[in-house]
Amino acid sequence: MKLLLERFSSRLHETPYTAEVILETGAKINIDRANVDAVRADLIIDVPDDKVERVAELFRQKGVKVRKLLKLIAWDEERCIHCGACISVCPTGVFKFDSSWNICMEEEKCVRCEVCVKACPLGALALACVENEVT
Ligand code: SF4
Ligand code: SF4
Repeated sequence: MKLLLERFSSRLHETPYTAEVILETGAKINIDRANVDAVRADLIIDVPDDKVERVAELFRQKGVKVRKLLKLIAWDEERCIHCGACISVCPTGVFKFDSSWNICMEEEKCVRCEVCVKACPLGALALACVENEVT
């Protein structure tokens, strides 16, 4: 499962909190995306399902806001014309054509970069809302 981590602090860089959680849980955490500056860090991490609750709890204890990303990308199939533009731009290979040349997706590969949202000529794609999905 993917978790969205949000941390705001002027002392952000004093503690290697992601490394600490990995060491404390033994979880093989994959960092899908990281936006980090002097006072803010937003990370999307992929965590093995059996470690999600423990990892989330430890991050919370370290002052990190944690949300479960139950849905990553919203695809409006009614609008989609199966043009394939999203296949070309997605850096992680979420989209592909099926045997009938219709678009299908492997949502779990999405890292919420938003590139496909901007590329879709029909506005059929959007980042899925994460409100109300706080762990
Ligand atoms: S870019 Fe938009 S319209 Fe084209 S296949 Fe992808 S979702 Fe469908
Ligand atoms: S948001 Fe990025 S990773 Fe996710 S489906 Fe779109 S292009 Fe691919």
